[in-house]
Amino acid sequence: MNEWKIAPQDVLERLNGLRQLDAPTHGGRVLSYVYDSGRAELDELAAAAIRAVQPLNGLDPTTFRSVAVMERELVGFSRTLFHGDDDVVGSITSGGTESCLLAVKTARDAWRADGRSGRPQLLVASTVHAAFQKAAHYFELDLVVVPVSPVTGAPSAEAIIERLAADVALVVVSAPSYPTATLDPVTEVAAAAASVGVPVHVDACIGGFALPWWPDLPAWDFAVPGVTSLSADLHKYGYSPKGASVLLQRGRDRQRLQYFATTRWPGYPVVNSTMLGSKSAGPLAASWAMVQALGAGGLAELAGAARRATIALVEVVEAIDGLRVVGGPVGPLFAVTSDDDVDEARRVDPHRLADAMRRYGFIVQLQPGLAQGDGTRMPPTAHLTVTPVTERILPELSDALRRAADDVRGVPAARADEVLQALAGSGLLAEGVMPDSDAAAALLGAVGISDGSVPEEMAPLLALVEALPAPLAERLLTELLARLVEPEAQRA
Ligand SMILES: *Cc1c(COP(=O)(O)O)cnc(C)c1O
Repeated sequence: MNEWKIAPQDVLERLNGLRQLDAPTHGGRVLSYVYDSGRAELDELAAAAIRAVQPLNGLDPTTFRSVAVMERELVGFSRTLFHGDDDVVGSITSGGTESCLLAVKTARDAWRADGRSGRPQLLVASTVHAAFQKAAHYFELDLVVVPVSPVTGAPSAEAIIERLAADVALVVVSAPSYPTATLDPVTEVAAAAASVGVPVHVDACIGGFALPWWPDLPAWDFAVPGVTSLSADLHKYGYSPKGASVLLQRGRDRQRLQYFATTRWPGYPVVNSTMLGSKSAGPLAASWAMVQALGAGGLAELAGAARRATIALVEVVEAIDGLRVVGGPVGPLFAVTSDDDVDEARRVDPHRLADAMRRYGFIVQLQPGLAQGDGTRMPPTAHLTVTPVTERILPELSDALRRAADDVRGVPAARADEVLQALAGSGLLAEGVMPDSDAAAALLGAVGISDGSVPEEMAPLLALVEALPAPLAERLLTELLARLVEPEAQRA
């Protein structure tokens, strides 16, 4: 390893070897993270586009002018798609998280520019994407979380509206939410927020490039007065390789607050629309190529395929004894949980289901249950993101769902009792006690997760995540991920 001088073809061979470690990116077997259009020629086009701009630096669109042209055209396409007028402007960011972070930063700076001081609030539903927790943390806003119905996954508009106040810098609604695919009450919230001068962000990161072709939806984009910003990920249903999202903002003056500019150093004047400095133009070029090659018509066709597959899968799940789909999902994704209306012997635990699905070659995401501020509990679920290619594997996937459910029907949910008992003796469950890196690693080892390994069964790990106090669970997961990339100890 220290003798790093390897012939290029051997390097690539090594890379191809490493790629065997990865979950399959194509074919619909991984029902999250990857969005397969099922059209190999689009992947080729994206790769060629990235290669064409590989040496550029997206930092400076005055030096690399193609960057400005591509960004302007993509923003234009998106603005039209999301019913924005000429006062809607925007940027291409590196992904949904960056779009969400920048929407919050802009709103915070607008709130401050109004002459207010202290800590502004970020008003969200409990199903809002975790990127907004990150934003509140990074930019020092207080997160005000409104619970959703554990049955439908939907927040009530009234509950959000009740919390609108002068300290709220931004209210976020999702179109739809990631955990349960709920389309939040955009119109109601935006009308109330506008009447008290609070800006509204629509997080359409996942739905943005699919919902425009979903029939019979209430308005959820800039067609709604009071919506001030919107995020939509090109690297999801825009089928771009990772690293591209669009953030649109209503009002030029407001949007300029998103930028960072300084002339106060002896280097080049820095003007950044997004968080990075030097950046690749690759994802921009790839998503720009994708959108042109597909056009609205092509995106509509692909959304149609994802929609047909979603409807079919929801029907399959609803017909499986012991399972139910959470709420009324909108868009190409949904969450599955145990049907508590039937006897325990017939119930299917969603995390056991996900582990069983793995044995049939499908990777389904496990989502933990969540205790909400009002004392209710969101159930643990299994998450399925459906892509156009899913339609081609419907028989196999449906079969796997039915069989996996049969395999685990009546098996109780994993519990963390033993681990908790062991921990109780260690004193680590006491409030405010945080293990250091070595103690955290030892704890992980005690639950069977040794350095650098990823557990085969995820249900017990999720049970632990649910049972532990959140700060401790977060610390342990941090240790798990950090150790994955730690170099091996040097030999003397
Ligand atoms: C994916 C997603 C995000 C965050 O996007 P990343 O691209 O993963 O950073 C934000 N909101 C929603 C609703 C999402 O689905």
